[in-house]
Amino acid sequence: MKIAKNVSRLGTETAFKVLSEAKKLEKKGKEIIHLSLGQPDFKTPIHIVNATIKALKDGHHGYVLPNGIIECREAVSRKIKSLYKANIDPERIIIMPGGKPTMYYAIALFGEPGVEIIYPDPGFPIYKSMINYTGAKAIPLNLTESKDFSINPEKILSLINDNTRLLILNNPNNPTGSFTEKNKIDELAKGLKQFPKVTILSDEIYSRLIFDNKKMPTFFNYPELYNRLIVLDGWSKTYCMTGWRLGWSVWPEQLIEHVIKFCVNNHSCVNAAIQYGGIAALNGPEDELINVLEKFFLRRKLIVDGLNSLKGVKCTIPGGAFYAFPNVIGTGMNGEEFASRCLHEAGVAIVPGTSFGNFSADYVRFSFAASRENISKAIEKIDKILK
Ligand code: PLP
Repeated sequence: MKIAKNVSRLGTETAFKVLSEAKKLEKKGKEIIHLSLGQPDFKTPIHIVNATIKALKDGHHGYVLPNGIIECREAVSRKIKSLYKANIDPERIIIMPGGKPTMYYAIALFGEPGVEIIYPDPGFPIYKSMINYTGAKAIPLNLTESKDFSINPEKILSLINDNTRLLILNNPNNPTGSFTEKNKIDELAKGLKQFPKVTILSDEIYSRLIFDNKKMPTFFNYPELYNRLIVLDGWSKTYCMTGWRLGWSVWPEQLIEHVIKFCVNNHSCVNAAIQYGGIAALNGPEDELINVLEKFFLRRKLIVDGLNSLKGVKCTIPGGAFYAFPNVIGTGMNGEEFASRCLHEAGVAIVPGTSFGNFSADYVRFSFAASRENISKAIEKIDKILK
């Protein structure tokens, strides 16, 4: 059987591989603490579940519009207005089956041989995978520990040339948990005015998971960029809905017809009842989100202090999301060796830095979407193998 060449260039998400290896070990009777997957360990708030059940009982069982039901797009538009004071026409919003399809479609829209696409490294592995798939050249934007892994406008602008069509950014960042402040994003937005042919894909999926009372420096702050701005966000991380597969994105007006074609060719539409759940999430109370943030805040300290207490491990403080990204080279092991020993000897599942790019071989990612008890236990177990 001969399959298309592009397929050999597709990458993957190692977190799922780690999970499957960890599950195999569990089946053999080994106790595993799971700190590998990027999903909140809390249940979806009940009012969201109930709204979805009601929608099913009310008969929302059929196909709906490929760009999402208007009520859901209007709810997203209202949320953007209330969070960021930005006016976004619901016709520019597309409801997606998760956050990922937005990155897939955006990269597919711009990527082809001869084109360059800039992406964060370390970064979410699907960016590079999809860029390579399209045949475009993947240009890594190296986020460095010395700069807290934050976005460096000067560096980004220096990477742009005549072949650059798309710039992908992710703030707060997976896997580093880094958070770039508004002054830096202001500077970048200003610099991007010199490059009107470059479209921006701002992945803001962790926009509501930011610590220390800081505000999300969203790209919605720059209306002058709206005609070449794609914002990716969704319900997965904010409302503990990773398995529901529900996301939203905002697109420049002229791209909407193309994105809708992708939707029609691929998934037709997003599950109708789930979109009603999404509306309930956006319109409903946010007490549970606040509660989740408080829990993540306490866990952040616990895990960062714990990691920094380990010999040879050095961890910066993440400003958002729920990831810690320590440098482990001081242990005498690189990230791959460290993660492998953690899994097989300590029973702690984490992801090696190489899963997130070429510049992070010395790092590993810990997700602190786990109980305090499990975080403490994991640190103790790792401490033992290091000794
Ligand atoms: N963007 C980033 C940076 C992520 O970390 C993830 C998921 O881990 C996504 C997008 C995809 O989110 P979803 O699960 O809604 O597809």
